[in-house]
This record gives sequence, structure tokens and C-alpha cells, in this order.
Amino acid sequence: MKVLVINCGSSSLKYQIFDMDTQDVLCKGLVERIGIDGSVLTHKVPGKDDYVIETPMKDHQVAVELVIKAITDPVHGVIKSTDEIDAIGHRVVHGGQKFAKSVLITEEVKEALVRCTDLAPLHNPANIIGIKACEAAMPGKPNCGTFDTAFGMGMEPKAYMYGIPEEYYEQYEVRRYGFHGASHDFVSHRAIEIAGLDPEKAKVIVCHLGNGASISASIGGKCVDSSMGLTPLEGLIMGTRSGDVDPGVMQYLCHKLDLDIDGILGVLNKKSGVLGLSGGVSSDFRDVQNAADNGNKKAEIALEAYRYRVAKYIGAYAAAMNGVDCICFTAGLGENDKLTRKEICDQYLGYLGVKIDDKRNDVRGKETLISADDSKVKVYLLPTNEELKIALDTVKIIEEMNK
Ligand code: ADP
Repeated sequence: MKVLVINCGSSSLKYQIFDMDTQDVLCKGLVERIGIDGSVLTHKVPGKDDYVIETPMKDHQVAVELVIKAITDPVHGVIKSTDEIDAIGHRVVHGGQKFAKSVLITEEVKEALVRCTDLAPLHNPANIIGIKACEAAMPGKPNCGTFDTAFGMGMEPKAYMYGIPEEYYEQYEVRRYGFHGASHDFVSHRAIEIAGLDPEKAKVIVCHLGNGASISASIGGKCVDSSMGLTPLEGLIMGTRSGDVDPGVMQYLCHKLDLDIDGILGVLNKKSGVLGLSGGVSSDFRDVQNAADNGNKKAEIALEAYRYRVAKYIGAYAAAMNGVDCICFTAGLGENDKLTRKEICDQYLGYLGVKIDDKRNDVRGKETLISADDSKVKVYLLPTNEELKIALDTVKIIEEMNK
């Protein structure tokens, strides 16, 4: 079975084709600057040179048509025609409370996604456009949706309710949702498998540390808590997002800076995190680390604050689960930065009996046990694979349909 995975952003589209018999990626690509000057598609096939198409793309419909051109190209393509694609799996950011697992996209599902748009105004419209563009370009093919928020639906009210009047939950679905769901789901289940833990009882903490960053706690693969909230702004300090702040800061800064609430949220989403804390050095941790290594005090504090916040969440989640069997690091920083993994574990997690093995930890991007044999908690580097998770869920849905 061949599955095309689509991840639509407001001006971008990422895609991959999986051969699900082997789970091999046949090709992947990225379309950038959709609807603005300089649109470009970069198509990658393992072992071949990149195929780049630079042409105006006024909307996602045109972008999807060019993706089809690239994947069926006689020289650079990997299939003869879209007949070879069995299904399309879409990443959808917000499923509200309606979707606790991946689903076949029907008219009713699309209507529900439109209703969730208020909750994710930047993301859901692009996801819906991507789905409609695929339906138009490949009529009759099943489209499935995997939701960033689905994993967080495992949370109980004590974890997902904010301490505000409950009528806002009843009327407007204001609650904590958790995001990066495909990643937390994929990595926590992989951890149970690779660490040989009890599939019903395993207590796993996953630290998804990328540009956007979040932590989840799960028991037996079911989410107990997840650090992002109604939006992906809550929780950890991130590349450009603040994570948790006292809401009083917003009112205070609104007055001081003469900004409205949208202006303040712009600051918290785009100008904060390690970018803001480092005094504007960068949102990329490599640059911030370089600056810190060269004596930049603000950059050093940014990194310390970042690690401290991750450690605080791990501590909180160990308490939430009354224990932890396994801690996993994943995503850009979690998979590549041994120093961040070591500092978090060595500086803050000794009381849990966590012990990192420096030799094992000297690794990047590869499934590895990085804790010592006498560590009370197993610690892993586990690369995430959101696209594979989407493809796997899509296959499951199609197989159910064909039963
Ligand atoms: P997202 O998907 O949220 O955009 P990624 O998971 O791709 O983010 O992570 C990107 C981040 O990972 C970069 O901003 C960078 O800070 C960090 N990163 C990548 N490689 C390294 C590395 N070798 N050392 C430290 N940080 C790294």
C-alpha cells in the first residue's frame, strides 16, 4: 500500500510517499511560499539529486497539482500515476474535542474542522485547503486526518481544566488540548516497545524539544498530561514562544507598551522564548549555544532557563503519574543536542535515580538508550516520525474500511 502524507501550513506544504509494505519513504518534498512571490517546490528522492520547480503557485490547489507532477515525473518521480496512491493522510492541527483518534475525512468531518477554526486560526484553514486540494486533484481517493490534539484527548478533567469558571469550558471548549500529538503518541508507544515495558502500565515522559517544544506524560500509551494548552503557547520555553507566563504580565505590558492583546500575543509567540531571552541572538539553539560559549551571559541564561523549565515539567509529570519508568528525548534539539539531554538529567533528575551514560549519550538522531545500566529510569533518544504515524493511522483506517 502506498500512502501520500500531506502537511499543509499557511504558505507551505510538506509531503512524503510511504511504501507501507516496507515503511520506506519513496520521496519527500517541500513547497514553500505558496501564494507569495518566489514559490518553489523541492522534491527529494533517496539517492538522487533534488528536483526543484520554481514557478508561481497562487494557492494550495496549484501546489498539490505540482506535487503530483513531481511524484509522477518520468525522471524524478517515484510512481507512474496517482492510481498507485492508495490513500492520503493529512496532518490536522486542531480537532477540538471531537477527534480522539485519526479518522476518514467525510463532509461531516470537514464541517467539524471548520467549526474548530476559531481554536487554531493560523493552522486549520490551511489544513482544510490541503484536504480540498487533494480531493479535487485525486478524486475518489480516501483522505484521512491525524490530529495534533488527539493524543491530549486522553487527559482527565483534572489535567485539562483550567482554574477558571467552568462555563467557559461548557460554552467555548476552553481547556488544555496538548499538541504535537502524533509525535508524543509515536514516541511513547515506541518507548514501551523498545524498553520492553508493560503496555498497560508503563509510565513514560516524552520531551519533544524542537523549535516548538512540549512534554507529555502517559500511562500505557494514554496521555495523562501534556504541556501545551488551548494553544501551543503554554508550557516550555521554546524557540520564539514564551511558554508559561503569569497572565498578569500581559495586562502590565499592554499598558506599558500601549499594545492590544493581539500585539502582546505576537510578542509571546514570535519574539520570546530563547530568541527573546538571549536578547535577540537567535531562535536556533545552535546559535544560542555558540553565543553562550563565547561569553554571552543572556544566551547562557536563556539556555539555563530552557533546561530548568524542561526539568520542572519532568518533575511535575513524575508526580502526576506517581513515578516514571522511561524518559524520552525527541525532535530537533532532543535528538541532536547531547549537552541539553545531559544537563537536564545530571543537574535536576538525580533524585529520580536518573543516570546518563556519557558514552551512550554521545549520539545524534538514532534510537539509543542513553542511561546507565544502574539508572532507575530508562532514558532514550528516540527520533520522532510524525509522518510515519500519520501513514500508519491511514493504513489502519483503510484496512478497517475494506473489512
Ligand atoms: P520544528 O519541527 O518545531 O520546526 P525541529 O524539531 O526541526 O523543529 O527542531 C529544530 C530545532 O532543533 C532548531 O531550531 C535547532 O535549535 C535544534 N537543533 C537542530 N540540530 C541541532 C543541534 N545539532 N544542536 C542543537 N540544536 C539543534
